[in-house]
Amino acid sequence: MIKFDACRVARTLTTAAFLAAGWLWPISIAASEQTYPSPEIKLSADKISNGRVLLLQVDAAGLSSPITNMQVDFNKTSYRFYPHPMQGNGSFFALVGVPYRTRPGAQKLIFKYSDLTGNQSRQLSFNVVMGEYRTDVLKVDSRRVDPNKKDRNRANREHQEVKHIYASASPARLWEGPFVLPVENEISSSFGNRRVFNGKLKSYHNGLDFRSPVGTPVRATNSGIVRVAKNLFYSGNAVIIDHGTEIFSIYAHLSKLKVKAGQRISKGQLLGLTGATGRVSGPHLHWGIKIKGIAVSPLQFVETLNDLLQR
Ligand SMILES: [Zn+2]
Repeated sequence: MIKFDACRVARTLTTAAFLAAGWLWPISIAASEQTYPSPEIKLSADKISNGRVLLLQVDAAGLSSPITNMQVDFNKTSYRFYPHPMQGNGSFFALVGVPYRTRPGAQKLIFKYSDLTGNQSRQLSFNVVMGEYRTDVLKVDSRRVDPNKKDRNRANREHQEVKHIYASASPARLWEGPFVLPVENEISSSFGNRRVFNGKLKSYHNGLDFRSPVGTPVRATNSGIVRVAKNLFYSGNAVIIDHGTEIFSIYAHLSKLKVKAGQRISKGQLLGLTGATGRVSGPHLHWGIKIKGIAVSPLQFVETLNDLLQR
């Protein structure tokens, strides 16, 4: 855990009056200096692999100047702060997705907020290291590697629709307590693996695959609102849940859907049954987590969130 704690000096020129009797003569020039302590901010790690989530926690309790408009900017995306689920007033958290394609090396976050003297910003440094990801070689239906024009148009439309959903997350925290796994099967392919489909299409795995036989019940990882429950060209029958606070979970390749878009669901609720729809090489459950549209390792996300709940 690393801490950034700095103070900022607010300088105000309080009085400047001049005597005008043929001369401009200062009678009183006083400079008062007031110091507002910055809120304390902690990052969950100072070194993180690409495709992971970074947790920021802010303690602004007891500060003489109220702190408002907190946000953190990283890689052209702004992330909001939300009230800490376990602590009282003045404690906040934000989740920042470090995209898979982030270059390794020194990176900067910009922490922004307002206090009584106006808008403030501060840089926070951390390092991105290349994750140790393997390569999966997969054979799938050629239609989903070389889609025809109609399928390409459909996939593009669906991509835009889902992108819009990730950009319009519920600001309220709909999740509660620890995030749980959607099935109990073993993992067949980890997040981040480099993927080669049919010897040519190169991509990366933006979720986690469980080796689930067809018909296995799939449960919601936490409470939220179903935003997508339909067939998509690549994901097959898929469910996307908005958990609020910019967290989404994705369940793909299902044989049956048991929920509808717009439905409020609770943790552990049945979403559907596993299958082999969409771009697959066999039956499995693909499970993804996105932070405001940025795919992160689902297992590392669960660990990080559960860490937040310990504090
Ligand atoms: Zn997958």
